[in-house]
Amino acid sequence: QTTAPTSAPTFEVHASANPVPDDERAAALAAPRFGTVFTDHMTRISWSQADGWHGHRVEPYGPLQLDPATAVLHYAQEIFEGLKAYRHADGSVWSFRPEANAARFRQSAHRLALPELPQDDFLGAIRALVGVDRAWVPTGEETSLYLRPFMYASEAFLGVRASLEAEFLVIASPVGPYFAGGVKPVSIWVSRDYHRAGAGGTGAAKCGGNYAASLLPQQEAYAKGFEQVCFLDDRTGTQLEELGGMNVVVVYADGSVATPPVSGTILEGVTRSSILRLLTDAGHEVAERPILLDELRAGLADGSVSEVFACGTAAVMTPIGRLASDDFDLVVGDGQAGPVTTRIRAELTDIQYGRAADRHGWLTRL
Ligand code: PMP
Repeated sequence: QTTAPTSAPTFEVHASANPVPDDERAAALAAPRFGTVFTDHMTRISWSQADGWHGHRVEPYGPLQLDPATAVLHYAQEIFEGLKAYRHADGSVWSFRPEANAARFRQSAHRLALPELPQDDFLGAIRALVGVDRAWVPTGEETSLYLRPFMYASEAFLGVRASLEAEFLVIASPVGPYFAGGVKPVSIWVSRDYHRAGAGGTGAAKCGGNYAASLLPQQEAYAKGFEQVCFLDDRTGTQLEELGGMNVVVVYADGSVATPPVSGTILEGVTRSSILRLLTDAGHEVAERPILLDELRAGLADGSVSEVFACGTAAVMTPIGRLASDDFDLVVGDGQAGPVTTRIRAELTDIQYGRAADRHGWLTRL
């Protein structure tokens, strides 16, 4: 557990003159709805090619004023991250592997031709925001403060080239337990008509455009009665890639586990790599290898596949109970959360909430 970054940048704090009153905040924290309520402040760092990173500050949360020609509005030069601050029983507040999010943010920036934010600025911005808005970190079981760092091309210029100016911000929203009343399996539509990413594209970057492209497939799956979409690779259309916002993992009846490799077209999830580590620790044989849809279908039909789950920061691990497309419709196991999913999910959340030893040094105090 690390408690302080090595060279902490200084953030000038402009405190909000109109913070949410205590009773209203308490009401919002008692029943938080994901992404609807935001804390009193936001952190901000500006960048220009001429001056580099500058103006580290904490400001009152509020609307941004954008010139209509701002590059991001036209060419989607934008990236983001998602991580959480967890309150432990002693009241302290911690983040989970934030340096992994900082590294992924730099990789995303590189792919989107945005400036790479140093890790100390990324962590410092989160620390500064949680510092002023600490009262917004909820205390209930499986609640947290969701942190959304993002960066956009802010230059007002319609030429198609990398922006010479960018803004980095962090906003925060209290979130409740993803599954109120117990972990619930989701149904998945395997998309054959759409792909999320292509070789050489932006699939490995966390950029808004990837999510824009996933909305129509998601809508169509929803209209068919399914909750999420699983995308296949664009070259052969035979291999599993990931869901619109989560990685996918297959558990076999013999205890081995497989997940698609990080090959440039999927997002390398922080939850994914943490779970693979916990599975390895627990003695499971773990393979990062291509998974053929046909192989998965056969395994579900003959019982050699026992569990399939999706994983990501928001829901941690979500059992997949049903998998279907135009030509098949299969139930996974008995359609409920399997034992491996349930056990590893508990192990991971126990570490995040400080109920178990942080044996891998994954927590950073905020
Ligand atoms: N894949 C995609 C496309 C995602 O948006 C996310 C959420 N960030 C993930 C996987 C899971 O990543 P993480 O575990 O870091 O939240």
